Amino acid sequence: MLDYDVIIIGAGPGGIFSAYELSVLRPDLKVAVFEAGKRLEDRKCPIDGKKVTSCIHCKSCAIMRGFGGAGAFSDGKYNITNDFGGTLYEHIGKETALELMKYVDDINITHGGEGTKLYSTSGTKFKKICLENKLHLLDASVRHLGTDKNYEVLGQIFALLKDKIDFFFDTSVDSVKVEGETYKVIVGEKEYTCSKCIISVGRSGSKWMQDICNELGLETYSNRVDIGVRVELPAVVFSHLTSELYESKIVYRTEKFEDRVRTFCMNPNGYVVNENTNGIVTVNGHSFDSPDLQSDNTNFALLVAKHFSEPFKDSNGYGESIAKLSNMLGGGVIVQRFGDLMRGRRSNATRIEESSVRPTLKATPGDLSLVLPKRILDGIIEMIYALDKIAPGTANDDTLLYGVEVKFYNMEVAIDDNLETKYKGLYIIGDGSGVTHSLSHASASGVYVARKIAEG
Ligand SMILES: Cc1cc2nc3c(=O)[nH]c(=O)nc-3n(C[C@H](O)[C@H](O)[C@H](O)COP(=O)(O)OP(=O)(O)OC[C@H]3O[C@@H](n4cnc5c(N)ncnc54)[C@H](O)[C@@H]3O)c2cc1C
Repeated sequence: MLDYDVIIIGAGPGGIFSAYELSVLRPDLKVAVFEAGKRLEDRKCPIDGKKVTSCIHCKSCAIMRGFGGAGAFSDGKYNITNDFGGTLYEHIGKETALELMKYVDDINITHGGEGTKLYSTSGTKFKKICLENKLHLLDASVRHLGTDKNYEVLGQIFALLKDKIDFFFDTSVDSVKVEGETYKVIVGEKEYTCSKCIISVGRSGSKWMQDICNELGLETYSNRVDIGVRVELPAVVFSHLTSELYESKIVYRTEKFEDRVRTFCMNPNGYVVNENTNGIVTVNGHSFDSPDLQSDNTNFALLVAKHFSEPFKDSNGYGESIAKLSNMLGGGVIVQRFGDLMRGRRSNATRIEESSVRPTLKATPGDLSLVLPKRILDGIIEMIYALDKIAPGTANDDTLLYGVEVKFYNMEVAIDDNLETKYKGLYIIGDGSGVTHSLSHASASGVYVARKIAEG
């Protein structure tokens, strides 16, 4: 007798939507979810802005781990597109990928996300304006749930699942062993057996995922990391774009190195926040749906994609080293005024205090040119001037740059078009597979695999 039919490792969007779909299609199956972090209501980051103002390196980061995964306190920007957010379509086809993203969007809006707005780039005048300024606006529909509604949706989905599925919180899986067609999920001294195992450990589980791949002899590939800064400026500078599109994903090819720089994770009237990945503090952002909770600033990342060729393989290690440098100099994230950067001087507390843009994150004033490689910094500066043409004010002296923001890509694991490994019944989904990098793609991958399992 096996303990479970299906064990899901990780309760981020990937794991949650696998569990949801299995509970709908195959209520007869015995399913368990093992999650290293806490229940949704127990997830609390100790940073309160008063006693604790910066990351204290908790053993399990409440922002990244727990029910809802890395997405729980995210801005809940649910992008329905194959243009970015992952390459799930390469495995399951563009049409199916979009269908599944829409399916999850429907579930979200009927479970707490009612009344949220779906923005779209189709027919927008900004496409032309961008092209006229050497910028390229990517196509997408984006539902902005907002951090508050996103939390509500997760709460409602947990309420649906909690009596149908066995959830184990604060339970970090040590390893997975294959014995014929049975999987043994090892947690400390205990072993749980199942015939199907879905691994959905996200970015916070990237090191663990690599170890499991080594142990099980699963091939991995990795050659990309995106490095840059988070820009914060008065919301009014981007308001013409954000009020129509909410988030504009804009790509620019630099003149000097022909590198691709892109805007990422735009948060109108939002907040800049710390992110802790495996002990390294980087920067991110989010915003609330409710006007009462909004700030006067908009923030977004500017990221330069760095692809490495042979023989270098450790692209994430490269990104981590750069992030560590900012942690070493600033004790965490560094903030610098654009004007100071351009004048070749560090920002200090007085210059930040006198700046017209009030920072929403307490970061250490410093000099990003001591942290970021010249090629990356040059790309960011070029892009800021390019954006200044479509959103005048972007290149103002008081625009704040927080660094570093790093988008780590999990190494891609060798999986087939069922998102299944060479071991029958062992699936790897979501950001942990390296195939997805977003709420929508991760959730869609969860539904896809659940349907494959439900088919039998
Ligand atoms: C601050 C922030 C804001 C974001 N904003 C957006 C946004 O607006 N839109 C968007 O599309 N994306 C956003 N993202 C990215 C998005 O959250 C992720 O793409 C998505 O959560 C990936 O889902 P996942 O299920 O693959 O992994 P995750 O959400 O990372 O979940 C994985 C879970 O697995 C658990 N786990 C890991 N290892 C183990 C183990 N060994 N045993 C048991 N459990 C384990 C972790 O604790 C975690 O809870 C944001 C991310 C962050 C950090």
